[in-house]
Amino acid sequence: MRCPACKELNRDRVIDSRATESGVAIRRRRVCEACNRRFTTKERIEEEVRLSVIKRDGTRIPYRRDKVVSGLRHACYKLAINDHQLEQIADLVEEDLFREHDRQITSEQLGLYVSIHLRAVHQVAYVRFMAVYRQFADVAEFINAIDDARELEAEDIPTQQALFGQ
Ligand SMILES: [Zn+2]
Repeated sequence: MRCPACKELNRDRVIDSRATESGVAIRRRRVCEACNRRFTTKERIEEEVRLSVIKRDGTRIPYRRDKVVSGLRHACYKLAINDHQLEQIADLVEEDLFREHDRQITSEQLGLYVSIHLRAVHQVAYVRFMAVYRQFADVAEFINAIDDARELEAEDIPTQQALFGQ
């Protein structure tokens, strides 16, 4: 914690802890060892994300950020994209995701969000991602995706509205 008085970082010590808000939060009394200022923090359980991803076969699985990141990592294998960039792409995906969906999303929509943000970073990674994410049934489908990628490349960066046909 940064002391609200002297702004020193991590010089505080907890002097008292108690449950509050019917046990949902913990209130901690702290003292800054640099300037002796006392202050209070509240700790609570982070709200769990309860978003379902609907797969193509209709089954639902809970949304998991780590799956998005591992999909990105797979697509970016041996390309000059570091973990920090992967996390940044995941942040952008989640911004779209949570702005526009609160309960559920289809795996295709989720894939579109990922592809939009990945494409802005790396074209090869984007094509690879499309191949992996869509789990192509046959070669023709894969070729279509590459064609789609070429079409997108030829256009200006498309808006989401254009991609979603809204
Ligand atoms: Zn202080």
